[in-house]
Amino acid sequence: MKAAVVRDPVDGYVDIKDVKLRPIHHGEALVKMEYCGLCHTDLHVAAGDFGEVPGRIIGHEGVGRVIETADDVTNLKIGDRVSIAWFYKGCGHCEYCLTGRETLCRNVLNSGYTVDGAMAEECIVDANYAVKVPDELDPVEATSLTCAGVTMYKALKVGETRPGQWVEVVGAGGLGNLAIQYAHNVFGAHVVAVDGNEQKLQAASDNGAEVLINRHDGNVSEQIQEKVGGVHNAQVTAVTTDAFTQSVNALRPDGKLVAVALPQGDMSLNIAKTVLDGIEVRGSLVGTRQDLAETFQFGAEGKVHPIVQTRRLDEVNDIIDEMKNNQIVGRMVVDFTK
Ligand SMILES: [Zn+2]
Ligand SMILES: [Zn+2]
Repeated sequence: MKAAVVRDPVDGYVDIKDVKLRPIHHGEALVKMEYCGLCHTDLHVAAGDFGEVPGRIIGHEGVGRVIETADDVTNLKIGDRVSIAWFYKGCGHCEYCLTGRETLCRNVLNSGYTVDGAMAEECIVDANYAVKVPDELDPVEATSLTCAGVTMYKALKVGETRPGQWVEVVGAGGLGNLAIQYAHNVFGAHVVAVDGNEQKLQAASDNGAEVLINRHDGNVSEQIQEKVGGVHNAQVTAVTTDAFTQSVNALRPDGKLVAVALPQGDMSLNIAKTVLDGIEVRGSLVGTRQDLAETFQFGAEGKVHPIVQTRRLDEVNDIIDEMKNNQIVGRMVVDFTK
């Protein structure tokens, strides 16, 4: 079967190769892939940014149907549509796995990085960790919800978002766009969207953001304090450290800054504001199986729609270049059904 594997030597691209997967083990299932999105995390894997893994099959935004199960698998059957997410599996018995915080497991496996991923015609999953995709959900849209969708749905939970509150979404790209939809359509919150690109701000407005701020137009946090009295939580998806530092000042008392993007470096935190206003800073990383199931359900109900477009497997290196050149709006999804 064909798969996109990290090049050897590692150079930021993949080779499309014929690969033979090992037989499935106890507790596993084999999935025939239908669609897999290409994510910036895949670009980091292909470039060796997290450690070099030449020969690894990339991909963690996969959706496909089960075609084989091990004898002991009871929760999946042939024909079920399942997802392959970055959180491939946890150890199952540590403090974090046992208390609903499994993404913090220190022995986590990640699809397309520490185990072979979903950018292939077939993929092996651990049946206990493969979250089912509802039939009502478009499988192409499901690929994006598997990564960006669950990341933002979870981050809004981490921010303790409640109906009627104000949420600042910093960066209105792939993550931010879904953050706005979940905040507005699922959590019932009001949204301030901040970006430097007018097209992205227009898309934010179309998706329900009530207040739009171009970060090139003056002091963003002062404007937010003036317009809405500060936000209850800020979801920072922009990849500059300045975005983090500024967002602290956009919070109202008891506000929470949720760090989602991963720029290199440190953010600065005013100590007096942190103490006097009871500010909290929290990191949020993807989501658990339960978070993903909930993320999918809201997608199936039509409350969120990621921007997706299908491509062919042999175009993956072209897509990598397009992503590096920032030419893409939304997500490119490889179609394995043709
Ligand atoms: Zn991803
Ligand atoms: Zn664990």
